Amino acid sequence: MSTDYNGYITADTIEGGDDGPLAERTVAVKDNISTEGVRTTCGSAMLKEYVPPYDATVVERLVEAGATIPGKTNMDEFGMGTTTETSAFGPVENPVAPGYVPGGSSGGSAAVVAAGDADMALGTDTGGSIRCPASFCGVVGIKPTYGLVSRYGLVAYANSLEQIGPIAPTVEEAARLLEVIAGPDDRDATTRDAREEGSDYDYAAAADGDVDGMEVGVPTQLLDGADERVVETFWAAMDDLEAQGASYHEVELPSLEHAVEAYYVIAMSEASSNLARFDGVRYGVSGGYDGNWNETFARAREEGFGDEVKRRVLLGTYALSAGYHDKYYKKAQDARAWIQSDFDDALSEADVLASPTMPVPPMELGESLDDPLTMYLADANTTPVNLANLPALSVPAGETEDGLPVGLQLVGPAFDEHAIVRAGSALEN
Ligand code: GLN
Repeated sequence: MSTDYNGYITADTIEGGDDGPLAERTVAVKDNISTEGVRTTCGSAMLKEYVPPYDATVVERLVEAGATIPGKTNMDEFGMGTTTETSAFGPVENPVAPGYVPGGSSGGSAAVVAAGDADMALGTDTGGSIRCPASFCGVVGIKPTYGLVSRYGLVAYANSLEQIGPIAPTVEEAARLLEVIAGPDDRDATTRDAREEGSDYDYAAAADGDVDGMEVGVPTQLLDGADERVVETFWAAMDDLEAQGASYHEVELPSLEHAVEAYYVIAMSEASSNLARFDGVRYGVSGGYDGNWNETFARAREEGFGDEVKRRVLLGTYALSAGYHDKYYKKAQDARAWIQSDFDDALSEADVLASPTMPVPPMELGESLDDPLTMYLADANTTPVNLANLPALSVPAGETEDGLPVGLQLVGPAFDEHAIVRAGSALEN
């Protein structure tokens, strides 16, 4: 196993069952998903020695399906980042574009798949963390409909936004992995049975490449301001879909301009509440008690959390505080409702929506950490989908002239993963 690009935090093997749909396959698991007896760090010094006493539901399902887990993958600390450079275990290098970031926060998961060090991987996507690294590493990633996949055993960053999902070399393999992990779970009350939503779990069968007659909407807001090399590659891929019988039209979704702001207010607010448990007493490195619990907690957090996590806990606490709650958190919830209704309208006249997954190609390593606002803006195309609870897939669309991977994002109606799988598979032809 080549590990010089730093894809794994812990390379312990968890053996799968003897048979099942994933027998003989390896599936790497992002390090914020609990694995019984194997440390689960969330990319944080806070949890550098944390060993969960139980498996996440998705891990149980992988093992039952026969998959072997080759290790836990590197990630931005607690999922907070777009480059995998906020990891306390060092950055991941993009295996297909040396010197560049692999995207984030599931950068390790996409990198090990792109490098061939795992057949497939699980990532998590709160605001793009599966689709961004899939796009930057030239592989496929799916962010499922909210409620399709159990979050039991996922260390929470922003519960109302995140889903666990597959990363794989092809759309069909990603769809097959989704079949294994999808479905209701008594231990996560936000899960739904797709069959009760008028759907089914046969995602891999939808990877038939048949887009004849399919109608694709292109939200113009998601092309404005994107890098020209990305826009060019995107339109070439759209021409390819059209040549296969699909048609496309442009759509306006004015609310999307506010998605990044709304996303960061909601994500940071939820994070500030979720991360309160890392106080060195319940979880995390000890702050050493010397008579004052407030100081004990402060020392644990000072030592355990990196800069990006501290920034978000502070901003989230501020946005939720009594005097500012209406001004920020409530406004962000209003924007979220507006985004949801814009997507509903657009999807009433299209089978899927298409855009570049990321407005920019992969950044150079070391380029983006000191400018958090610019980094947040890179999430412009992915965050709206989480706010709307919809499924989305990133599929390789080609490369820039300088050889950097570009991903195309397809967004579908809730619980219609089939539509995005079908359209995505056509782009692989
Ligand atoms: N880049 C986004 C953030 O930092 C998305 C992260 C994610 O999806 N976990 O919050």
